Amino acid sequence: MDFILHYDVAAFLLCIIVIALFLSRKHFFTKSNTFFCLMCVLLLESTVLDIFRVYTLQHLDEVPLWVDYVVNGVSFLSYNGIQLTFFRYILTITGVEDTKIGKVLKAVSYAALFYLSLLLATTPFTKLAFYFEDGVYQKGFLFLSLYFTAYSLIIVSIFVTLYSKKEITRYQKLTTVFMALGTSTAYLIQLFWENILISNFVASVLLLILYHSLQSPREYLEEGMDVYNSKAFLEKTGYLLGRKKSFTVLAFELDGFQFVNQIMGMESGRRLLESVAKECQESHKGDLYYLGETKFAYIFEKNNSELPIYSDWIHWRFLSAFRVNGVRVNLTAKLCAVCCPEVEPEHEKLLTAINLSLQMCKKENYMEVYWPTKEEIVACQRSTLITHILKRAVRNKEFEVYFQPIYSAQDKRFSVAEALVRLKDPELGFIPPDEFIPIAERSGLILEIGDIVFKKVCEFMASKAVAKFGVRYIEVNLSMVQCMQENLHKHMVEIMDENAIPHCMIDFEITETYANGDNHVLLQNMEALIEKGCSFAVDDYGTGFSNTDYLIEFPFELVKLDKSFIWAADSNEKAKTVLSHTASMIDSLNLKIVAEGVETYEQAKYLLDMGCEFLQGYYFSPPIPPQKYLEFLRNSQQIIKEKLLDKAEANA
Ligand code: C2E
Ligand code: CA
Ligand code: CA
Repeated sequence: MDFILHYDVAAFLLCIIVIALFLSRKHFFTKSNTFFCLMCVLLLESTVLDIFRVYTLQHLDEVPLWVDYVVNGVSFLSYNGIQLTFFRYILTITGVEDTKIGKVLKAVSYAALFYLSLLLATTPFTKLAFYFEDGVYQKGFLFLSLYFTAYSLIIVSIFVTLYSKKEITRYQKLTTVFMALGTSTAYLIQLFWENILISNFVASVLLLILYHSLQSPREYLEEGMDVYNSKAFLEKTGYLLGRKKSFTVLAFELDGFQFVNQIMGMESGRRLLESVAKECQESHKGDLYYLGETKFAYIFEKNNSELPIYSDWIHWRFLSAFRVNGVRVNLTAKLCAVCCPEVEPEHEKLLTAINLSLQMCKKENYMEVYWPTKEEIVACQRSTLITHILKRAVRNKEFEVYFQPIYSAQDKRFSVAEALVRLKDPELGFIPPDEFIPIAERSGLILEIGDIVFKKVCEFMASKAVAKFGVRYIEVNLSMVQCMQENLHKHMVEIMDENAIPHCMIDFEITETYANGDNHVLLQNMEALIEKGCSFAVDDYGTGFSNTDYLIEFPFELVKLDKSFIWAADSNEKAKTVLSHTASMIDSLNLKIVAEGVETYEQAKYLLDMGCEFLQGYYFSPPIPPQKYLEFLRNSQQIIKEKLLDKAEANA
C-alpha cells in the first residue's frame, strides 16, 4: 500500500511549534495544563511512531515480527491516548471531574485505557486487534473496537462540554465541540482510506487551536499586569485544598483608591494598580495574584516563614507615595492572612473569607497583619447576612412590634408596656434584637428601623384600644445613634401628631452604656421632647458603668434596673444589698424604678418591698403581639389575682 506520509511530517512540525509556544510563555501550573502537555507528548510520540509504522509495514520481511507488533501497538495506544487525555482534559476544564458523574466518567476512562492496553498487548497471541499473516498486515476481529472506544469518548466529551454547569464561554464550548468533531472526521477518513495518514495532522492543528483558545496562558494572567488573575488563584487554591495541603493566603487591599478614580479617572486608577502590582512583583519572587477591585494576594505553601518579609515590605512601601501621571498619591494597605484549611477548608468560600477578613481589618491597625479565626469569619459572615436581611426588612417594613406589659404597684394594674421590635426571616427564623440592633446601629439602618417601630407603636395606640384598659404610656427604646440626630425631637413629635397621640403617652428608654456620643445633642433632644410632654428612662441600669452622674446630668424620670442585676440578687446576699441600696438611692433622687426580668413571685415580692414602682418580666408575660397584648389586658385583673394577691395570701 502507498502511504501518504506528508501529513505526519507536517503534524510533527506543528506539534513542535505548539510545544515551543507552550514552553516559551509564563505558565500557571494547573491540572488542565498537565493534560495539555500530555496530549502534546502523546501526539509527538504518535506521529513519530506512525512514520515508523509505515516503514515497518512496507518492509515487513526485513523487520523482526516483534518490532512490527511493538511499533503498531504503541502507535495505536498513543493515538488513543490522545483521545483519552482530551476526555480527561474536558472533565477538568468543565469542572465535571469533581462531581459524582465525573468520578464515574473517570473510572470509565481508566477502564478504556485498560481495555486498549490489554487488547494491544495480547494481540500477537490472540490476533484480536491486528496480526501479520504470510508477511501481510491484517485487521483482527476487534480492530474496530479501537475506533469505537475513541468515538464513544468523543461523544461523551461533547455532551459534557455542552451540559456542564461551570462557566466556560461559548467560544470555549465551540472550540471543544469543534475539536471533538474534527477528530472524529479524521478518524472516519482514516478508517476508509487507510493510506491517508491524516489523524495526527488534524490532531496537531486542533491542538494549536486549543492552545490559543482554551489553553492560552492569557487565561490565567491579568491583562496588562503580568500577574496571575483570580481564576488562577482559585485553580491553585482548589488544587491545594483538594490535596489537603496547608497554605496561607496573604491578601492585601488598597485604601484611598476611590479618590484616584474619582479625581483622576478610572484609567489612571488602573495604571496605579498596575504600578503597584509591578513593584510587588519585582521585589519578591513569590507569585502575585490580582483578586479584583484593589485586592491582591500571595500564597505561602508549607511554611509561613517568608510571610512577614512580604508583609513588612508592603507596609514599608505604602509609607511613601506612588506616582501616577506625575502626581504623588498616598495609599494605605490593609493586610490579612488566612490559614487554610484551618480557617477556611471550603474552596468555594475562600474568596468570601478573604473579603470578610479584609473588611474586618481595623483602619487604625494599618501596620498589622490581621489573622482571622474561623469563628470571627463566621460571625462576620452572619453579620453581613443580617445587614442584608435588615435592608430588605426596612424596604418591606417587615418589622413587628411586640408589647411586654409592666405592672405598676401604685396603679395596681398593668398601666405601662414596653414596645420591643421583632424580626423574622424566612430562612434564619427569629433574629433576636440583641443581635440585630448593634448591627443596625453600625450600618446606620437603626434610624429607619427606629422610625418603623415608633410609627407602629403610634398607630397601635391611635386605635385607642389600650387606653380603655388604663394604659398610661408605652416605653419605646431609642438607640444612641437616633439620639445623636439633631432633629430627632421634631421628627418624633411629627409622628405622634400624625397619629394624634398625646405626647405624655410615650416614654423613651435610652441605654446609659451607649451614652458616649455628643451629650449636648442628646440633652437637647431630651429637653425638647420633655417640653412636649414625653418622659425618659435610663435602660439597663446596673450593667456597664452605672454612673450616677448620668442620673444627675440628664432629666430622667425612670430608672430601669437590668435583669442581670435582679437575678444576681436572687442567689447572692451582697448583690441583694447593693440592689436595695441602689433602689433607695434612686428613690431619694425622686426617680421611679422599673425592675426588669422578674421571673418568680419571690423576685416580685422583694422588689415591691424594696420600693420598686414597676415590675416587668416573664413572670407576668413575655413580649407579645398587639392582639395578644389586648387579650392580656382584658384578663389582667385575673392575672394580678393569681400572680400576686393569691400568692401573698398563701404566704401570709
Ligand atoms: P431591653 O431594652 O433591656 O429590653 C428588655 C429585654 O429583656 C427584652 O428582650 C425582653 O424580652 C427581655 N425580658 C423581659 N423580661 C424578661 C424576663 O423575665 N426574662 C428574660 N429572660 N428576659 C426578659 P428583647 O425583646 O430580646 O430585646 C433585647 C434588646 O434589644 C432590648 O433590651 C433593647 O436593648 C433592644 N431592642 C428591642 N427593641 C428595640 C427597639 O425597638 N429599638 C431599639 N433601639 N432597641 C430595641
Ligand atoms: Ca428597654
Ligand atoms: Ca433593659
